[in-house]
Amino acid sequence: MRRKLIVGNWKMYGGLEQNQILITKLIENLRDIKGGDFAICVPYPYLFQAQKLLSGTNILWGAQNVSPFEEGAFTASISASMIADFDCSFAIIGHSERRAVTHDSNQSAAKRFAQTLHAGITPIFCVGETMAERMAGIAHRIVTNQMRAILDGLDAKTFELAEKLNAVIAYEPVWAIGASQTASPPEAQSMHVLIRQLIAKRDPEFAKKVRIIYGGSVTPANAGAIFSMPDIDGGLIGRSSLNPEDFKRICEIACSSESENSTI
Ligand code: PEP
Repeated sequence: MRRKLIVGNWKMYGGLEQNQILITKLIENLRDIKGGDFAICVPYPYLFQAQKLLSGTNILWGAQNVSPFEEGAFTASISASMIADFDCSFAIIGHSERRAVTHDSNQSAAKRFAQTLHAGITPIFCVGETMAERMAGIAHRIVTNQMRAILDGLDAKTFELAEKLNAVIAYEPVWAIGASQTASPPEAQSMHVLIRQLIAKRDPEFAKKVRIIYGGSVTPANAGAIFSMPDIDGGLIGRSSLNPEDFKRICEIACSSESENSTI
């Protein structure tokens, strides 16, 4: 049985004062929820604040990206070892907003994934198709190619680290992010099965334990149906993670949802 994981993606929102209020509220709201893992991924400048406020609580923290390089003359870039200095548990890698805005490719996302692992941090590797790709009937092909970047592109040592650090996959259909629509639970489940099967071809044991979480306009209203799917092991939550009551409800629903046995 995989433990549910709920991660808030704060994107480029927040400020010192606002964060203090939100994080204090989250600590209070999530304190008594058992049976799942919770985290927030904040903008880089607030990692120190997150570390200071969240240490010793049941909420982990992380960043939203890392450089594909270890170090060097890369002005304004942030390396994985730099975020490790703030005790980050997670880094979101290959988010569709990074792929779209900064042209992060499958190959560079795979390099960021590897850097994250070598710094001892668990990557949350995002995959997902656009609406045009879904309409063209190539959603599965797109997600397969995105997954291949890490399944075929990593050496054995890095892949072992992925298993050891419990790398997470987030299926996030681009058309459902920050939108009024979400993937239907069976649509999402079918993509999660595909992802798990692809992982099983490289490593059957890892496929059983890897957490594949769903992202795309999850709210307290739709969380129950989504998290009851057998291969959906939690959520990557954007907008609703900035509302402490909504985030609390989503975490509660995730921890109380009974899913049937997974396909693998
Ligand atoms: C996200 O940014 O990863 C996300 C899923 O956002 P939202 O929940 O707002 O759709």
